[in-house]
Amino acid sequence: MSAMLAARYNSQVSRGAATDERYGRVRAIAIDGPVAAGKTTVGRLLARRLGYRFVDTGAMYRAITWLALQRDVDITDAKALVALAEEATIEVNQVTPDGEPALRVNGCDVTGQLRTPEVEGAVSLVSRTSGVRIALVAQQRKLAQEGRVVMAGRDIGTVVLPQADIKVFLRASPGERARRRLEELRDTGQDVSYEDVLSDLARRDKLDTERADSPLRPAEDARIVDTDSLSLEEVVSLIEKMVRGR
Ligand code: C5P
Repeated sequence: MSAMLAARYNSQVSRGAATDERYGRVRAIAIDGPVAAGKTTVGRLLARRLGYRFVDTGAMYRAITWLALQRDVDITDAKALVALAEEATIEVNQVTPDGEPALRVNGCDVTGQLRTPEVEGAVSLVSRTSGVRIALVAQQRKLAQEGRVVMAGRDIGTVVLPQADIKVFLRASPGERARRRLEELRDTGQDVSYEDVLSDLARRDKLDTERADSPLRPAEDARIVDTDSLSLEEVVSLIEKMVRGR
């Protein structure tokens, strides 16, 4: 290797190491926000770029809801719901045979079942049950302990990981969120109207914001990002800059 090449190589290596070190200091990135604010899309892409793991905590609440519906558990029966949440084995970060992100409950891939109207209708009732939250928050903290995680939800910055290095609260107008959610649902073949999506979104936001345990709200030290006029790329780059700036 010539002296010049060696110098360039060494500078690249040390730049790489510096980057790793810098990222190394950021162990946890919390992304919170209301229904369809873009948390999952943003979080997943950000995690891929940084080489972090992504945990979608909404999918965990949906998984317990699916299980409850599957077993005909009365979703107002807190005791039964807590028993389900405590016993269920939820595996996040799985992949389908097509390489798509997947979630398994008790060994069964339920990814395709998590966004049905039945689950959407019941999830905010299940998630307001304190015992369910205690069981899932414990699992979420355990996942975060493995380090380098982007975690999306409603209470990540306030309750699950109050010590997160980066906290972002994504916001968007109801109209914009309904439009995004409608697109997502139609992509999965669900025939729903804009009005229905908008009213379901308002109903869930109300339940999530007004519940007694861990209501949806930004952490005091969260950066609030209004995404109405931002592209996915712009939102991800903005958070990436926050991570690099640490
Ligand atoms: O994010 P997503 O829309 O998939 O979340 C589904 C539901 O799960 C939310 O409406 C909320 O009731 C609940 N949830 C929660 N806490 C979280 C994540 C989701 O209560 N950290």
